[in-house]
Amino acid sequence: MKDNYLAELNEPQRAAVTHINGPLMIVAGAGSGKTKVLTTRIAHLLRNGVDAFNILSLTFTNKAAKEMKERVERILGSSEARNLYIGTFHSVFARLLRAEATKLGYPSDFTIYDSDDAKSVIKTILNDLNLDDKHYKPNLVYGRISAAKNSLMSPEEYQHDHAVQQEDMRANRPMIGQIYDAYAKRCFKNGAMDFDDLLYKMYLLLKHFPDVLHKYQHKFKYIMIDEYQDTNPAQYEIIKLLGAAHENICVVGDDAQSIYSFRGATIQNILQFEKDYEDTKVVKLEQNYRSTKSILNVANEVIGNNKGQIPKNLWTDNTEGEKIKLVRTMTDNEEGKFVADTIAEQKLRNHYANRDFCILYRTNAQSRSFEESLRRMNIPYRIFGGISFYQRKEIKDFLSYLRVISNTRDEENIKRIINYPVRGIGKTTIEKTMVFANEHNMTFWDVLVRAREFGFKGGTLEAIDGFVTMIQSFQAMAQQNHNAYDVAIAVGKSTGIVKELFNDKTTEGLARYENIQELLNSIKEFTETPTEDGELLEKSLGTYLQQISLLTDADNGNDENSDQVKLMTIHAAKGLEFPVVFNVGLEESLFPSSMSINTREELEEERRLFYVAVTRAKSRLFITYANSRYRFGNLVQNEPSRFLDEMPEKYLDRSYAGGGVRNAFGGSGNSGWGNSNNMFDRKKTPATTPQSTTSQRPAPKPAVVATNHVPSPNFTPDDPATMEPGMEVEHQKFGFGTITAMEGAMHNRIATVVFPKAGGEKKIMLNYAKLMIV
Ligand code: ATP
Ligand code: MG
Repeated sequence: MKDNYLAELNEPQRAAVTHINGPLMIVAGAGSGKTKVLTTRIAHLLRNGVDAFNILSLTFTNKAAKEMKERVERILGSSEARNLYIGTFHSVFARLLRAEATKLGYPSDFTIYDSDDAKSVIKTILNDLNLDDKHYKPNLVYGRISAAKNSLMSPEEYQHDHAVQQEDMRANRPMIGQIYDAYAKRCFKNGAMDFDDLLYKMYLLLKHFPDVLHKYQHKFKYIMIDEYQDTNPAQYEIIKLLGAAHENICVVGDDAQSIYSFRGATIQNILQFEKDYEDTKVVKLEQNYRSTKSILNVANEVIGNNKGQIPKNLWTDNTEGEKIKLVRTMTDNEEGKFVADTIAEQKLRNHYANRDFCILYRTNAQSRSFEESLRRMNIPYRIFGGISFYQRKEIKDFLSYLRVISNTRDEENIKRIINYPVRGIGKTTIEKTMVFANEHNMTFWDVLVRAREFGFKGGTLEAIDGFVTMIQSFQAMAQQNHNAYDVAIAVGKSTGIVKELFNDKTTEGLARYENIQELLNSIKEFTETPTEDGELLEKSLGTYLQQISLLTDADNGNDENSDQVKLMTIHAAKGLEFPVVFNVGLEESLFPSSMSINTREELEEERRLFYVAVTRAKSRLFITYANSRYRFGNLVQNEPSRFLDEMPEKYLDRSYAGGGVRNAFGGSGNSGWGNSNNMFDRKKTPATTPQSTTSQRPAPKPAVVATNHVPSPNFTPDDPATMEPGMEVEHQKFGFGTITAMEGAMHNRIATVVFPKAGGEKKIMLNYAKLMIV
């Protein structure tokens, strides 16, 4: 065990860490070590005889939870950390709900619906109720239902709440209460919970089952919560219930970073804490360890414009650092070029790695220009959030099979796959099945199982029986060997999905095929990663599905160690830090968003968001804005953001000329950011080594050219571990080629190979397509 862990802390941090019993609140500014205190406190509790099984720690992302476990392990030097309950609200509650689901009438393998699934249920309901989905937009309805659940409002309460009803009436959408009611019933029938249910049902469970409440109050004697300022009423009430017996609750938060009030989170939680718990010890942390003086001063000045905040004096001992570079470009495309050029330049000039850079934007749609420029420059990047891997159609289809195997009550997922790949079960059959299910109060699946009794005949009956038998055979397999990967492989083969995608030789088809292979790889990796939790059959299909359902935006593609520039929204960047940060799109109507400038509250929330963005940077901060950009299909002229006026001139450098290597890569000459006066002359610029990109959105690939390659008679695949760039290889289908790059860990090794006779460069997953060294 590391003994000096207390010595690494400053005085108030140490006071917080060593406070063991009784309520504790740490309110402090960005980068002052709140998360560090939380982590160290867990280790300290363990050292002082608290049992790891009695500690519950709730974080904002799974990634933060993982980091926390690792840090605790580092301090303790033991595997005790694995017994801690550390995770996001959603993941921890999903796990508890799985254990207790039957009390609420749910199967323990309940399905978790993401927003896409939820909206598709809402669409079905709108159809049933004969409502126009242009007026009752599923997105909007889902938002209302979500807000209701996060305020702990049942469908009945919703329909009887005067203020809520008035609001819906004013918007001319009086039926939302009824839709909510139908939605809740349908999810229940499907054995499914959406994300908000994971909180709402947890609350109901604790409130209505005193024995369950008692059990978990007794289990979680110490509760810790990061980012407390963003807890919503549902989370707040659950914590209150769980902590009521011991009151050993420790929360850390920063009112200046409250950025989820649109979800029902309010800074009232922080203010309320002291009132809820009489003997609260309050600790303030004022020293920032993350950022340079310039960065911190700018952040402090800007947030000072917000009224109604808890006064704080955040300072740092770090160096002054460089001024903040404020850069204006003509267009959004030039903004993209500027950022990519500057990354290339900073890598050369200051020896940064790709992973040291983060591009932060207000909305996901802004990522495009940066993606294009980074791709052009061969700089690897990864987008967090946006259309994530798991939202892609082929992935969702495949996962639907796995979900149905795990829970046949799930009508939505059955409908998604019943005729995919095409097997002759048409819309009429599906509608009839739904009607029968409703009439006889049975599940959709049960009607399918008894299709003959319900009068289905001929080809339709045969198709339904074939589908049912196939799913049942997968279920038998899942029950017998508990291995998610075996089941997934069987699904890929028996359904014909993999073959169908393989035979589709269009660029999109190839991408879809590769995505499925990537999914299979990840399931394999899941089954081969050592078990963390002995309580559960970790490698089973049910556990796998639960895990992937709970990936948050910020966890999406959590390949932490890969050397890639990160792109994400500011919301997803909460709690993170990076050596170099680009805050982009600082324009009126974009940031602050045009939807959030109508009230002081909204504008102050945008300002807090800007504060979060600025305080992610450790050493260097670039802020950019464009004169004009395409938005919703129109070229619009933009005023610079009002937040720029709030930054004191003395910390700003407006003369930055952009990345010196820009022109070497064909950048635009009339960029509007002044003459280049940097240290890199075009002719002298060393070319950056092209690197393969492993971004989530790969560059468009050439269409596959069919080859008639006949593999060598002695074709025997070689071990991927021995391969390296420069080697000549043979592929069974694409023929001979040269490896230009290798990437990925052992189970996930990917070779980039140029095949002159098969359309050029391809990425080959070595787990699936084998190569032979020639
Ligand atoms: P945020 O508000 O962004 O969530 P935070 O308050 O949680 O920030 P941390 O992420 O815990 O801050 O810490 C910020 C950085 O400062 C981290 O790199 C952390 O390791 C470092 N740090 C915190 N306390 C100390 C300390 N006493 N000595 C040295 N480094 C520290
Ligand atoms: Mg933190």
